[in-house]
Amino acid sequence: MKCARCQEEVLPQDSYDYYGQTLCEDCYVVALQPPKPCDPAAVASAKATRKQLGQTGTDGLTPLQKRIYEYIKERGKVTKEEVASTFDLPQWELEKQFAVLRHCELVRATKEENQIFLTLW
Ligand SMILES: [Zn+2]
Repeated sequence: MKCARCQEEVLPQDSYDYYGQTLCEDCYVVALQPPKPCDPAAVASAKATRKQLGQTGTDGLTPLQKRIYEYIKERGKVTKEEVASTFDLPQWELEKQFAVLRHCELVRATKEENQIFLTLW
């Protein structure tokens, strides 16, 4: 199958349903979180900055991001809903935190049986 946005081939297990469109993970994350003018650069530089500062693992994350990371580490894999209810986060806030963790290659989303799970990278 093909991603409806970037037209890349996506495997069924890597595809996400976004209002009836089939999207790859990257497009899905972007679709959920429309980039604001200041965001793409911030996200793109997150990894470079961390590298520059010699940060690894959870260095440089906000306390909330660290707690989410630790929570996922403890559980192995969790759903976004579990993270949202555990940390009392609205969906958009969760996506924002997840986008940072994902771009730092700490947490990733995997799809199993139509459920999206967050696991460590
Ligand atoms: Zn795509």
